Amino acid sequence: MSSNKTREPGAPVAAGMIPLSVPNIGGREWEYVKECLDTGWVSSVGPFVERFEREFAEAVGAPHAVAVASGTAALHVALQLAGVGPDEEVILPALTFIAPANAVRYLRAWPVFLDVDPDIWQLDAGAVRRFLSADCRRNADGSVWNRHTGRRVRGILPVDILGHPADLDALHGLAEEHGLVLVEDATESLGARYRGQPVGSRSMLTGFSFNGNKLLTTGGGGMLVTRDLELARKARYLTTQAKDDAVEFVHGAVGYNYRLTNVQAAIGCAQLERLAEFVATKRRIAETYATAWREIPGITAQGEAPWARSALWLYTVRVDRARYGRGSRELMAALDSDGIQTRPLWQPLHRSPAHQGSWSGDCPVTDRLHAEALSLPCSTGLAAAELSRVIESVRRHLAA
Ligand SMILES: *Cc1c(COP(=O)(O)O)cnc(C)c1O
Repeated sequence: MSSNKTREPGAPVAAGMIPLSVPNIGGREWEYVKECLDTGWVSSVGPFVERFEREFAEAVGAPHAVAVASGTAALHVALQLAGVGPDEEVILPALTFIAPANAVRYLRAWPVFLDVDPDIWQLDAGAVRRFLSADCRRNADGSVWNRHTGRRVRGILPVDILGHPADLDALHGLAEEHGLVLVEDATESLGARYRGQPVGSRSMLTGFSFNGNKLLTTGGGGMLVTRDLELARKARYLTTQAKDDAVEFVHGAVGYNYRLTNVQAAIGCAQLERLAEFVATKRRIAETYATAWREIPGITAQGEAPWARSALWLYTVRVDRARYGRGSRELMAALDSDGIQTRPLWQPLHRSPAHQGSWSGDCPVTDRLHAEALSLPCSTGLAAAELSRVIESVRRHLAA
């Protein structure tokens, strides 16, 4: 059940208010954490870490999984292992939470922000293709260079936005054609499927997050999954301070303290047991909303591609002011006064003060979605009566 004490910091909600999305801690979390405390295995080594990695790899159809401190850490290490380095560029959608762009900067590389498509809101493969042909040149050695910045384009970082997978085949095809690496940000899409296969099984390196607001949470944490044993070994090495000798403390590289603790992994194991149930609940909530929107003009949900089965991490609609009679921010204020928490999407990254040094293409779809999108309550513990209350409130504020 949703509960006020597990709410994400920074998202306080008054009593009686319906929160946007809160963790669902109702399985064997307590039992597993107690086992950690009773046995003394509380730190970054322990049976639950190994078990979580094994069971998570199985769940996402990848041979190897390395538990890490956060989704951002997973992306940072994945990009480094993919070979992204200083002054190189990585293509990202302009519409995403900021973490993947920050991970690129940690390596002193630069993001390039391109637009998303208007239906499923994912990085637009057509925009990537146009960028690579019109805005880039190719050297004799096959390397691709951004004409505007003079920097080498090294990779693509698709983000499975809001739980829906990106168009992975098209993007992998472009990466292969242009000799680029591809790291997938699946921090929002755990439990989703791409062409029938679980997200996490398609790309060489994929990052997941168990932050407090994600579908599956460990309080904070992440997972790096890979199809390559050597990459998994290197990830484990880099995320444990690159220690070569545990007795004499000899370190072969500059590593990171990025490991997940056994206590967090214990929570993760309990959460993972309920993953299928969580996704089914998210999809049921989305269906109920979709049925209601058929009778409320101007409210449309993020689309789902025929090749995708979205995990519906954060249920989000577009509010068409011309047809609904109010814009997204007005609806947000109206719902807030009814005790319902909603949230717009992230500031587009081509407009972010944090990423001013980066090049971006035209992003009209991203800008429109930023203006029109609103995420609605969709906790897996959301009661049917609460869901009805949200729908009735949206219906009542219709001003067209
Ligand atoms: C949550 C999120 C991350 C980062 O995950 P943390 O575990 O919070 O570090 C990265 N990318 C996207 C798109 C996210 O939504």
